[in-house]
Parts: sequence; C-alpha cells; structure tokens
Amino acid sequence: MIDLRSDTVTRPTPAMRRAMADAEVGDDVLDGDPTVLKLQERVAALLGKERALFVPTGTMGNACGIWVHGKHGTEAYAHDDSHIVNWEIAGMAGLRGVQPRMVHGAPVMTLDTLKAAVRPASKHAPPASLVCFENTHNGAGGMVTPLAELRAMADFARGTLKLPIHMDGARLWNAHIATGTPLADFAACADTVMVSFSKGLGAPLGACIVGSADHIHEAFVARKRLGGGMRQSGIVAAAALHGLEHHLERLAEDHANAKRLAAIVADGVKDVQVVPPDTNIVMIDLPPRIDATTVTAKAKALGVQISAWHDKRVRVVTHLDASSADVERAAEAVVASLR
Ligand SMILES: *Cc1c(COP(=O)(O)O)cnc(C)c1O
Repeated sequence: MIDLRSDTVTRPTPAMRRAMADAEVGDDVLDGDPTVLKLQERVAALLGKERALFVPTGTMGNACGIWVHGKHGTEAYAHDDSHIVNWEIAGMAGLRGVQPRMVHGAPVMTLDTLKAAVRPASKHAPPASLVCFENTHNGAGGMVTPLAELRAMADFARGTLKLPIHMDGARLWNAHIATGTPLADFAACADTVMVSFSKGLGAPLGACIVGSADHIHEAFVARKRLGGGMRQSGIVAAAALHGLEHHLERLAEDHANAKRLAAIVADGVKDVQVVPPDTNIVMIDLPPRIDATTVTAKAKALGVQISAWHDKRVRVVTHLDASSADVERAAEAVVASLR
C-alpha cells in the first residue's frame, strides 16, 4: 500500500529513531531539557526570532499564538479555508473567546481579500485583535504566498489595522524550499509563527511557536494551561532536530514528485481539474460523473491511499516515505481510479 493521504503518515527513519534513543534529556517542566533547549534555539535562529517554544502539536502552537494575541470578545481575520478555521475544533472561540472574521475570495488570503473583509468601524461591530496567515496553505493545495504579497499583507495588518499577526506555518519549510526565500524573511511578516516537525520533516510529532521573548513567555503560560508541559521531551525534540538536519533540503524531491503526479493525472484524465502544485500537495477537482469517496475507494483497491478533501475534491500528498517510483505508480492508480 502506498499511503499518500498526508505527509503526516511518515514513520521515523531508523536514523531518526537512533537520534531519539541517544538524546540527552532532562525535565523540561522543572528546569529545562537540553535537547528541547537546543531545538528551540535552533528554530528561533532559523526563523530570525528571539525565542521558540516546543509544543506537542501544530494545533497547540496555533492555540498558543491565538492566546497570546487574541482578546476575549473580538475577531481574528482568517481565510475561510484555513486550517485554524476548519480543522481546529473552533479552538479560537472555545479557548480564547475569539470569533473568526472570514476572509473570502482567492484560494489564499491576499492583500485585496484581506482589505475587503475589513468592517467599517462601528460601536455595534466586534473589534479585531489579530490577523492569521497560513503559508503554505493546506486547503489551497500547499500554495505558497510569495514574500512580496505577504509583506504587503503584513504592512496593511500592522500599519492600517494596527493588529498583530500569527502565522500558521505548519509547512513554512516547504514554502522556503520551493521559493528559496529565507525562512526568516517569511517569519518577519508575523509576530508569532508556528512551524511543524511532523509533516514533511518526518518527525513523529511536535511543533514550535516562535516570537519575541515576551510573546513566547505568554505562549509558555498558554501551553501550560492547555496541558502541554512535557517532561523528557528531548526524545521527541531529537527527532525534530534530525528532521531539520536531514529532511529539510530533500523537500525539493517531494515537490518534484507532486509536479510529476499532477502532470500524469492531468494528462491521463481530461475532465478533471488538477491544481498545479507549488509544493507537495496535489488537489484534484472532480467532474459531476464521479465523487471523492468513489475515487478514494477505487484507488485503495489498487493499493494507493489518497484522501477525500470534500465531495468533489481529492487530495494527494507526497512525502519522505514515498519514492519517485512509488509516486509514479500511485499516479497511474489515481488515473485508473478517476476514469
Ligand atoms: C497539520 C496542520 C496543522 C496542525 O498540526 P497538528 O500537529 O496536526 O496539530 C495546522 N495548520 C496546518 C496548515 C496544518 O497542515
């Protein structure tokens, strides 16, 4: 079975498991775990921020970011197809008392769609307390928001709206590898950024939130409150460090594999719409004659797992555990399933 449902399905490589077994550890709740501290320093430096905080999941990293900037009874500007809006169980509302101010339009947030979402000031309208970005954008098929657009959005959010920014950068690594834009340049467009280790980098779990010393101090309190204080977490941080060291540059292979798969599918089935992938996620929009659950069931019968994103869209994700030969074979199975 070739599993292309997500880049989260990767299993730690033997070398990653060795790094985990050999990790120097301490009690990170009590007085710090040396491997966690090393990871936090490394990630803060890579992203050009003062501090980083290791959290068990990307969702908790986003919750911490929203906690830091959000204020009870306010709104957060967020794209209507963002992970924070659709896949985090209304965490912003449930945990922080913040409702999303949906940014509609283009597949990802742009300066124009963000501007269009702004409410005229009124004593009856909810005020906003933050803006949320997502790069790469999962729901749009791993789409990259290029640095120039991101800067324009950040200038508008900070300058005109006077709001702080949290970036969901679960796959910011992919945006960096796909464009060559330094991670720190992307990260400079937000006050806090979440990056994940359990997607393309292949770690079993873990994410970091980065920002100023003050923001990360508040994020530390939020993590504790959410039950995310971890003890000998160096075991997992070692996997993240290993992923950064050995699996970051190779994301280019995942991107090439995704482009190849997209080309084979677009070539092989004339009435589907393949969203051209910027990175490692291929979205395929289906014609009326077929629905997503039929396609995923047929593909599974042919030994390939892909996911139904919604009724009329399937998602195929390339990753560390799928070689280019695997992806070519999977592409043929997807073609057969779509016909
Ligand atoms: C996976 C993902 C998350 C959440 O990460 P978890 O570790 O699964 O909680 C957040 N945002 C985006 C864009 C993601 O793809």
